[in-house]
Amino acid sequence: MSDKWNTRTRAVHAGTRRSQYGEVSEAIFLTQGFVYDTAEQAEERFLQPGDDEFIYARYGNPTVRMFEDRIAAIEGAEDAFATASGMAAVNGALTSLLKAGDHVVSSRALFGSCLYILDDVLKRFGVDVTFVDGTDIDAWRAAMRPDTRAVFLESISNPTLEVIDLKAVAEIAHSVGATVVVDNVFASPVWSRALELGADVVVYSATKHIDGQGRCLGGVVLGTREYIRKTLEPYLKHTGGAMSPFNAWVMLKGMETLDLRVRAMTDSATQIAEALEGDARLARVIFPHLASHPQVEVAKRMMERGGTVLSIDLKGGQAAAFRFLNALEIMTISNNLGDAKSIVTHPATTTHQRLSVDQRAILGITPGLVRISVGLEDCGDLLNDIQQALEAV
Ligand SMILES: *Cc1c(COP(=O)(O)O)cnc(C)c1O
Repeated sequence: MSDKWNTRTRAVHAGTRRSQYGEVSEAIFLTQGFVYDTAEQAEERFLQPGDDEFIYARYGNPTVRMFEDRIAAIEGAEDAFATASGMAAVNGALTSLLKAGDHVVSSRALFGSCLYILDDVLKRFGVDVTFVDGTDIDAWRAAMRPDTRAVFLESISNPTLEVIDLKAVAEIAHSVGATVVVDNVFASPVWSRALELGADVVVYSATKHIDGQGRCLGGVVLGTREYIRKTLEPYLKHTGGAMSPFNAWVMLKGMETLDLRVRAMTDSATQIAEALEGDARLARVIFPHLASHPQVEVAKRMMERGGTVLSIDLKGGQAAAFRFLNALEIMTISNNLGDAKSIVTHPATTTHQRLSVDQRAILGITPGLVRISVGLEDCGDLLNDIQQALEAV
């Protein structure tokens, strides 16, 4: 790969490893193991595998390595490790780094499974976790301690799309020597340069925009070579969170169109948010780059565009939200995001059902809130679909 290549070129070509057959499309090496010519070679490889040498697919695989190298090239990271799912990535990134007695500061508005790792798993193993309102920079500063080992945040929260000033949080965290781990799913690799903004470790659920067509689970952790190979890899290769070579191939192909897809989806999401803003039937329209967004100024510094997801709050509460969902003809009711198909979610009764009414209220997850992941359909058709469903309410 040339250092001069821009992101879109990297997304198509970076990381390619051609076999002796000279295939155009990346090969799927659907193999668990690798053979050695001699016993001596096996011994040597176990001692220290070379750059293009593999031992066992739980440790690494050529197709998986292609995916890791390609996403690292796009993100501007020294290295990457691919995982079976986004949650294997979040768990690996944190667990490999922490030990009993460490302190972690985390934003409060987290994806349910991330909250489980921070609030349940880590605490059970003796890690002290302090939760803060991620948009409150003074709260981050106040929570930091000399023994704070890591900071965790989702750069944009789900489903209320709060934007965290990553640059400010990273400066505070680095002042006590803490590692900044960022779940950057909602911002996507296209619109956010989390490493440049100060993140040390960036995590993606590849299940979302990177696949982008609802097929495979996957995840990836990106960071320095030192962190990925010395801290993360030993943990992940022995605990079994490896990505399947088949899924890595799907993700590789997804990367080739990632930029185009995310741009088109963002265009539509922006247009829909602007069209709905001020609609009398809605209490709120939430989209990071709308002038009415509480952190619009931070959002514009953190991300080049507003992303592919918006949330709307129907004035009639849950009954209105359900009628709206059920009346949609193009958009489907599901819980994924970043997909070519537009997807609507009612967080209060699905993804955030397990939270108490009070917890939901703190996070702004009202009964009328609907999350819309905008897909690749014709934007005019999507707007008509939303309008007819609002009328049906
Ligand atoms: C989906 C998601 C995850 C988990 O990813 P999986 O691939 O489903 O394991 C983690 N964080 C965020 C913000 C997500 O949206």
